[in-house]
Amino acid sequence: MDFALSDEQLAIYDMAHAFGQEHIAPFARQWEAEGTIPRDLWAKVGELGFGGLYVSEDSGGTGLGRLDAVLVFEALSHACPSVASFLSIHNMCAAMLDKFAPDELKARILEPAVTMEKVLSYCLTEPGAGSDAAALKTRAQKGNAGYTLNGTKAFISGGGYSDAYVVMCRTGDEGPKGISTVVVEHGTEGLSYGGLEDKMGWRSQPTRQVQFDDCLVPLENLVGTEGDGFKYAMIGLDGGRLNISACSLGGAQAALNQTLTYMGERKAFGKSIDQFQALQFRLADMEIELQAARTFLRQAAWKLDQKAPDATKFCAMAKKFVTEAGSRVADQCLQLHGGYGYLADYGIEKIVRDLRVHQILEGTNEIMRLITVRALLAERG
Ligand SMILES: Cc1cc2nc3c(=O)[nH]c(=O)nc-3n(C[C@H](O)[C@H](O)[C@H](O)COP(=O)(O)OP(=O)(O)OC[C@H]3O[C@@H](n4cnc5c(N)ncnc54)[C@H](O)[C@@H]3O)c2cc1C
Repeated sequence: MDFALSDEQLAIYDMAHAFGQEHIAPFARQWEAEGTIPRDLWAKVGELGFGGLYVSEDSGGTGLGRLDAVLVFEALSHACPSVASFLSIHNMCAAMLDKFAPDELKARILEPAVTMEKVLSYCLTEPGAGSDAAALKTRAQKGNAGYTLNGTKAFISGGGYSDAYVVMCRTGDEGPKGISTVVVEHGTEGLSYGGLEDKMGWRSQPTRQVQFDDCLVPLENLVGTEGDGFKYAMIGLDGGRLNISACSLGGAQAALNQTLTYMGERKAFGKSIDQFQALQFRLADMEIELQAARTFLRQAAWKLDQKAPDATKFCAMAKKFVTEAGSRVADQCLQLHGGYGYLADYGIEKIVRDLRVHQILEGTNEIMRLITVRALLAERG
């Protein structure tokens, strides 16, 4: 067993970190205030090959593994977890198209997505179907001219901003086997968006409802096979959960690094606050928690790369563990900054706000426990 990253992996991490510090970190607060991420960032991200990190080279992607991708998202999140996680959703969609879309659809949508000329969003959740996603109601009626979509998707990251939407919709009966995946391009007649959601964190990325009213989508926009859409959606989420966890890890690590510096400088009762043993122990606990989270996350990513039979369980367990550890650490870092931690200028409160949603989306952490215990009971035999 070798826990060391390869030279190539270290270089990928360093490149992503340096890119984030130069092109994202200085602007993160401004983008948060503006509620949007400027388009020209994505062109630069695409040039680095980060638009299709684990899309195969045959499809024009970078062809990296899940472990490599986790490194990229951890490194980028040091600059801004909101921007990094937005990119992670785009990558999840791109990987779904790479795996399951027909060649013509790949040429039309995936190739420009890999270079990030086109930004992708993932549309599973509906107002009445979140954790129970297989209860979704958006219907796609098949006709000679294409699929006519009717329904509403809720909480869509990139809603009204992205160029194409990977939509899970019902082409058959109730339940997961009646669900298919289609791509809906921005500008399609019958596609519209709700108002901008006002959120606690992730404020630089726009979140809106996505609405389909007799929205006619070409038959060629079907991804894979009718009735397999829910399976594709869940396969996408396995990797997505790793990426979101990596965003928690990177954000929390950035908060801890900043806290270490701050505690060396801040004085109370005649000494720097890093000299109080009670606070030193808190630093130690945070370091232990983040190192454990990192090891667990990388093991889960490795399992997915190896196509291990228990990869889904490990992705779920890692998501639960890492996102909760990340939020706990970020919150402690805020506490150790005293009142200054609460001020936007110090950057810690933004990390706390950005990381909180990682326990909710791409499957809540209650659902992660559900996946874990189902596997556990099945393994018991
Ligand atoms: C900022 C943001 C961005 C998002 N982006 C996207 C996106 O891009 N695309 C997309 O498709 N979705 C997106 N989502 C939606 C997200 O995935 C859902 O909010 C999430 O899956 C939970 O669904 P829900 O909100 O309907 O909660 P519910 O399913 O109503 O859950 C409410 C509570 O009940 C718990 N619960 C539900 N069922 C069970 C159970 N069986 N056992 C135990 N506890 C249970 C949940 O864990 C939760 O605590 C986003 C959400 C947010 C907040």
